[in-house]
Amino acid sequence: MEPKIFDRSDGQELRINMISPWLKQRFGRKIVKLSLDGGFTCPNRDGSKGTGGCLFCSESGSGDMASAALEDQIELLSDKWPDAGYIAYFQSHTNTYAPVEVLRRTFSPALEYPDVVGIAVATRPDCLPDDVLDYLEELNRTTFLWVELGLQTIHDETAKRMNLCHDLADYDCAVKALTERGIRVVTHLILGLPGESREMMLDSVRYACGGGATPDGPPIFGLKLHMLNVVRGSGMENAYPGYEPFASIDAYVDLLIEAIENVPPEITLHRISGDAPRSTLIAPAWSYKKRTILNTIHKEMRLRNTWQGKALE
Ligand code: SF4
Repeated sequence: MEPKIFDRSDGQELRINMISPWLKQRFGRKIVKLSLDGGFTCPNRDGSKGTGGCLFCSESGSGDMASAALEDQIELLSDKWPDAGYIAYFQSHTNTYAPVEVLRRTFSPALEYPDVVGIAVATRPDCLPDDVLDYLEELNRTTFLWVELGLQTIHDETAKRMNLCHDLADYDCAVKALTERGIRVVTHLILGLPGESREMMLDSVRYACGGGATPDGPPIFGLKLHMLNVVRGSGMENAYPGYEPFASIDAYVDLLIEAIENVPPEITLHRISGDAPRSTLIAPAWSYKKRTILNTIHKEMRLRNTWQGKALE
């Protein structure tokens, strides 16, 4: 299959199957993701799985950009995009770490807003008990849903070093359980974790995109890739002082392009750069320059004549 080409607003072709144009095509209008904090906690902070959290996570639960309530965000955005639809994106902490009644009470009101066309639920791969899976299956029948799994790396030794307190086997089980129920999976990977070589990072991308432990099963719906952001208040700050995940934007872009070449064209890309707020960012110092990073990636892909899912000849 040929990679999809979407026009960018600047008229230049986009060689990556990014989720925004995919959603626009699917729903026939601009779709904006609203980052929400459902008030959940995390088993890797409260002691049931671990304490202290994943080393890269700040106290806000890797949802630093999660902001105001849904209606406040819609009000702010409706001036800019009066015809937009919205995906309610429950991003902070572990959004399936609660009894089903609590999940229902949290997710249902968001879906009642007329312009909310779907929901995205970010969670840990080890937080999907059967009753939660049944509820997600029910949600999936009534609305557009994806579940984002924080895998970060397929290498268990890195997972241990980063204090993730879950492993690849947890991820494999979660992908199998979700895809068997027809639920879209978005896999979250972090590039630049301490101790990982370029090949190790690319192996994580290939594994996630190749179906992981169930290569004959349905592919994942999406992939979220970004460089490690070392932020204030995270375990990384003390455990790895001075750590630089990438020497420069160019070094990151070079790896990212090879990673994207390994992503089949039908898999949507949900992120390709970091989004830590500048106020808490320690490294890489350039990580907040999202526009520059994205432009560099697109420019390089055109120069090298490379595409998602298609390596250079
Ligand atoms: S990254 Fe997610 S799983 Fe890890 S400590 Fe933060 S909220 Fe918990």
